[in-house]
Amino acid sequence: MSLFSAVEMAPRDPILGLNEAFNADTRTTKVNLGVGVYYNEEGRIPLLRAVAEAEKARIEAHAPRGYLPIEGIAAYDKAVQELLFGKGAALIEAGRVITTQALGGTGALKIGADFLKRLLPDATVAISDPSWENHRALFESAGFPVHNYRYYDPFSNGVNRGGMLEDLRNLPARSIVVLHACCHNPTGVDLQLEDWKAVLDVLREREHVPFLDIAYQGFGDGIEQDAEAVRLFAESGLEFFVSSSFSKSFSLYGERVGALSLVTSSREESTRVLSQLKRVIRTNYSNPPTHGATVVASVLNSPELRAMWEAELGEMRDRIRSMRLAMVEQLAALGAKRDFGFVAEQRGMFSYSGLTVEQVERLKEEFGIYAVGTGRICVAALNKGNLDSVTRAIHAVL
Ligand code: PLP
Repeated sequence: MSLFSAVEMAPRDPILGLNEAFNADTRTTKVNLGVGVYYNEEGRIPLLRAVAEAEKARIEAHAPRGYLPIEGIAAYDKAVQELLFGKGAALIEAGRVITTQALGGTGALKIGADFLKRLLPDATVAISDPSWENHRALFESAGFPVHNYRYYDPFSNGVNRGGMLEDLRNLPARSIVVLHACCHNPTGVDLQLEDWKAVLDVLREREHVPFLDIAYQGFGDGIEQDAEAVRLFAESGLEFFVSSSFSKSFSLYGERVGALSLVTSSREESTRVLSQLKRVIRTNYSNPPTHGATVVASVLNSPELRAMWEAELGEMRDRIRSMRLAMVEQLAALGAKRDFGFVAEQRGMFSYSGLTVEQVERLKEEFGIYAVGTGRICVAALNKGNLDSVTRAIHAVL
């Protein structure tokens, strides 16, 4: 009998399944709004000019590809800290932040989760309802029970503030609470500063461990503005975790460029914590890859390339916002039965559109427009060429 004869088929990833169905669809008018990436006006994943420049310089330098330190490139880690906490931040100066390069935001969450399992083996993890679909699986695979806290309110298309605070209060003390720092995936609905303060109070009171996940910094209101929650936590005096990713903000999805940052209570503590975090990394993948982080570090540390990147990120942000506004306007102009104004208020690449499973199915069957069954659409996949057909189709299935 084969060693693998009893291995069962794992459930299909719903988003990958959607992509397969989209690719097999022969209609020329098809549109894929199920994706989790930014497309430009031409419907392609952009290669940023700042990235291309940095790559060119790197290739010309014929740099050798030795092993990196376990925690990654120092100049990269420092640049990440400055983006998250601000240049010259008190925490950084005090030696209270440690940052390790990671394999994308996912890799950062994974090493953070593995480290937490050693630190708080009996803790419970709580994620928002709904959340990025991998949050649950990641923390479960690290051995934690994972609960949901109420977050999205479908009636107001906003945050269920009361429910969220109540659920956070009712978690066992010292739970690990995963929070989307900005541009919530999948809803596009974020907390306001006052909400963050209220959440912070509960976390402090219940001694929960905050784990901020920031995968879309710069896609909401701007690089600095989107770090508001991280900065608030930085001022709080609490210890916390931050996973961050450049997949979207540098359009470097496949290069796996992310970071895990931990805020400790002292420089001395940082040294001990980093030594343990390095063990987690060493026994996972030994040390991180060179290319993506070298490119990102050289962009962030060169005034010229950095200005270019900030402008390009701004263009992506503005394009998404203009698509949100255009979608709302066109649906209203078509006389849609529902007010879609909330779509313009949402942040980041995604929108919980309020479309039902049946409506999403009809969009696919009748119009070749693919969205996630929950009604999540990727606004960054809209462009001037497909907006008209998408809004007409949505209007038709309402
Ligand atoms: N966290 C959130 C909320 C995300 O939406 C994503 C990607 O979609 C990630 C983490 C993972 O990012 P990466 O592709 O860098 O692993």
